[in-house]
Amino acid sequence: MKIPSLSSVVIVLLLGAAVACGGGKKRQDPPAAPAAPAPITEESLMAHVRFLVSPGLAGRQIGTPGEEQAAAYVEKHLRAAGFEPVGPAMTLPVTRPGRPATRNVVARVPGTGDRVVLLGAHLDHLGVRDGQLHPGADDNASGVAVLLEVCRTISGGARARPLAKTLVCVAFGGEEAGLVGSRAFVASGVVDLARVDRMINLDMLGRPLFESLFAQTKPDGLGLVVNRVPEAELDAIFALAKTEGVELMSLPESWIQKVQAGYAYDSIPFNERGVTTLFFSSSLHADYHRPTDTADRLAPRQLRNRAAAIARIVEHLAR
Ligand SMILES: [Zn+2]
Repeated sequence: MKIPSLSSVVIVLLLGAAVACGGGKKRQDPPAAPAAPAPITEESLMAHVRFLVSPGLAGRQIGTPGEEQAAAYVEKHLRAAGFEPVGPAMTLPVTRPGRPATRNVVARVPGTGDRVVLLGAHLDHLGVRDGQLHPGADDNASGVAVLLEVCRTISGGARARPLAKTLVCVAFGGEEAGLVGSRAFVASGVVDLARVDRMINLDMLGRPLFESLFAQTKPDGLGLVVNRVPEAELDAIFALAKTEGVELMSLPESWIQKVQAGYAYDSIPFNERGVTTLFFSSSLHADYHRPTDTADRLAPRQLRNRAAAIARIVEHLAR
C-alpha cells in the first residue's frame, strides 16, 4: 500500500481551501494541468533500498525468487509511473541452457521523435554466501532506487510536456554473474541500438566518492566514466550536476580496472556495439561485495543529490 506523503496531503488541503474560497462566482476554468510529480527525497530513495535489501529477497542472486521479486517490484513502480512495455511483456525472460535464468525489466515513455535515451541499472546481487546475506545496498539497490525515482519524476513531467526522445528504462538481471542481462538485452534487438543516442548506466551511487580508497574522500563527488561523449556535452552535464550539489569527476576506464582488476559493468556491452555511454558511480569501497554493504552505510543526502542531478541530466539528454 502506498501512503500519501505529507507534501501531497498538504497540497490536497490547500487545493480544498482554494476551492472553498472560490465562492459562488461561476466561471469557465481552464483544463487542469497534470499534477507535478512529487520531488525525489532521501526517504523516497531509501524506501526502495530498504525493500531491495530486505532478508526476504535473500540478496537477489541470479535465478532465485529474490531476484524475481526485485524485478516484480521494479515493474510495479514503472507501471505506476506511467511506463509501458517495450516488448511483449515488461519483464522479459533471459534463458541460458543449463545455467540460471534471469530477466530484464524494460519499459518506456514514448517521445515525439524516433531517438532513444536509455537508462539502466542492475537489480541483482550476490545472494547468500557461506551462510551470510549479501544485501548489496550500494551494489546496486542504490542504483535501482535512483532509476525508479528518476523515471517517476521524468515521466510525471513528460505528461505535461512530452519528451523529444523516447526514454527507455532497463533493470538488468544477472550482472554479477557476468553481465548476463545487459548482454542478452543488446543481443535481443528489443530496442534498436542504432536509435539509442545515449545509454546511461547507474551502478553504486550511495557512498562517498573514493571512500576507503584514498585518504581524502569526496562526499559530494560522483564518478563518471564516458565513452564517445562530446566534450561540449560533458560541460553541460557537469554544470547540471553542480546545481544539485554534485561534483562530477571524469574517471578513465583504466582507473577502474586498476582499482579492481576484472571489474565489469553494464555499459560495456553497449560500448562494444558503438553506443555512446555515460556510467555514473561512486565507485568501490571496503564493503564492496561483502555482507557489510548495508543500507545504514549509505549516505542518504548524497544519494538524493545524485538522483536529482541524474534526473536533470537524463531530462536534458531526452529533451
Ligand atoms: Zn554492481
